[in-house]
Amino acid sequence: MTDPEVIVVGSGPNGLTAAAVMARAGLEVLVVEAADHPGGGSRSGDPIGSGAVHDLCAAVHPMGAASPAFAGLTLADHGLEWVQPPVLAAHPLVGGRGAALHRSVELTAEGLASDGPSYRRHLGRLTDTWDSWAALTRRPLIEGIAPSVGRIRFGLISARSAAAVARDWFERESTRALWAGVAAHSFAPLSEPLTAGFGVSLICAGHRHGWPFARGGSQAIVDSLLSVIGKHGARVQTSRRVDSLSDLAGARVVLLDTSAAGAERILSGRQPRGRRRAYRRVKPAPGVFKVDFTTSEPIPWSYPPAREAGTVHLGGTLEELMVSESSVNRGVMPERPFVLVAQASLFDPSRAAAGTHTVWSYAHVPHGWGGDATEAVTARIEEFAPGFRDTVTGWSSRDPAFLGGHNANMSGGDITGGSYRGLGAVRRPTWRAPYRTGVDGVYLCSASSPPGAGVHGMAGWNAAHLALLDLGMDTSAV
Ligand SMILES: Cc1cc2nc3c(=O)[nH]c(=O)nc-3n(C[C@H](O)[C@H](O)[C@H](O)COP(=O)(O)OP(=O)(O)OC[C@H]3O[C@@H](n4cnc5c(N)ncnc54)[C@H](O)[C@@H]3O)c2cc1C
Repeated sequence: MTDPEVIVVGSGPNGLTAAAVMARAGLEVLVVEAADHPGGGSRSGDPIGSGAVHDLCAAVHPMGAASPAFAGLTLADHGLEWVQPPVLAAHPLVGGRGAALHRSVELTAEGLASDGPSYRRHLGRLTDTWDSWAALTRRPLIEGIAPSVGRIRFGLISARSAAAVARDWFERESTRALWAGVAAHSFAPLSEPLTAGFGVSLICAGHRHGWPFARGGSQAIVDSLLSVIGKHGARVQTSRRVDSLSDLAGARVVLLDTSAAGAERILSGRQPRGRRRAYRRVKPAPGVFKVDFTTSEPIPWSYPPAREAGTVHLGGTLEELMVSESSVNRGVMPERPFVLVAQASLFDPSRAAAGTHTVWSYAHVPHGWGGDATEAVTARIEEFAPGFRDTVTGWSSRDPAFLGGHNANMSGGDITGGSYRGLGAVRRPTWRAPYRTGVDGVYLCSASSPPGAGVHGMAGWNAAHLALLDLGMDTSAV
């Protein structure tokens, strides 16, 4: 076997996408992965031992469905099928009230009563102009895309805080809560600038592409990427952790699907001082505490649209979410944390035996938090779905230490590859040339580089195309 020309360190969705691009270009590619399975944050498994399929990390894929990388790699031809729930996301409030996000802007606006016209005016218009600005959410923000009316409008809104936009655009408690629950995917305090961008991007992606599950589990995304790279002759080696660049001698190109800290360690002193400082400056995001359940029945939500929703956000009102998100960012565990729930088995019968269900959930917790949030998550679901406890037949919890122990990129439970607070949204980990590590032939391609967290493969796609250009290869066909 010949020495690989390209080594990809890490087999998360970004690493596998980078490997696919390089292999399709005709290069000899090896992916090395520390874990005993490829897939990073897009794996599925059965942590409860009931025979059901649970998504161990990512479950809901607005960014995957909208990803030009996944479309370009024709993952649908390699077995990936999106399952679209009838309601994208629901945000219940006490007393059976709430608000819901539908695929259609019109249906969503109709459900928001007096806030409907404002929703159409702002989020409807942004959805209509999605094609003009969505590229900004898939690449380094400050690198050369010509301004247009749609992009400037998206930029001006995104720069604002989610809380200010909620109060400007909406008057109803439930609409503000729905918006804030989506914006809280930033893991940043909702009063801080740039948090509105998360609300706009995820809501408009949903209206254009849905918030789907992968049929059979998020593992199907990994399997389809493995099928592409296998077709082009790339190899994957698991249970091999890379600690130093000298472990990779011989490769012309190295792509690091690692955290910024992990990359800095592997490059051990070879980076120019400025780059090294930038990598060390990356601040971690708060963590997550994950709880998977099996149940004998669907969750008995009091707010009816939640029974048809793929994703349910349990964060209470805008004001309550502001308190919980600012608390986890201060390192304090809130009494009532923001909990995200996904109910894939309602729409994908392949997940669990007939008459049983899987429930995926996680709470936002402080970075590295060492407590047990299983009861807090269960109580949060019960609060909006009385009787839930009685339906639970099994559960499995994973704390930040467990997540970081199984994937070095998620140290302390940080699932976003570094905080989005302040400049963290645009400096990932550097302003300029973010995929370049400063060491010739070595590129960063993980969620710690643009466009950041999520299963979309865009960092891998962008970094691999840059590497091909540096090799003087034609990228038009890959
Ligand atoms: C609980 C949870 C829920 C999530 N929910 C969603 C969701 O619903 N939707 C969504 O889009 N995203 C979600 N995410 C985030 C998503 O999983 C990540 O953003 C995404 O997986 C990042 O992809 P990546 O390729 O950059 O890195 P990862 O998926 O983290 O993969 C990196 C891989 O590199 C390996 N590695 C790291 N260092 C080394 C080394 N030195 N040597 C060898 N191998 C190494 C790791 O073992 C890992 O397999 C969630 C994450 C978690 C944990």
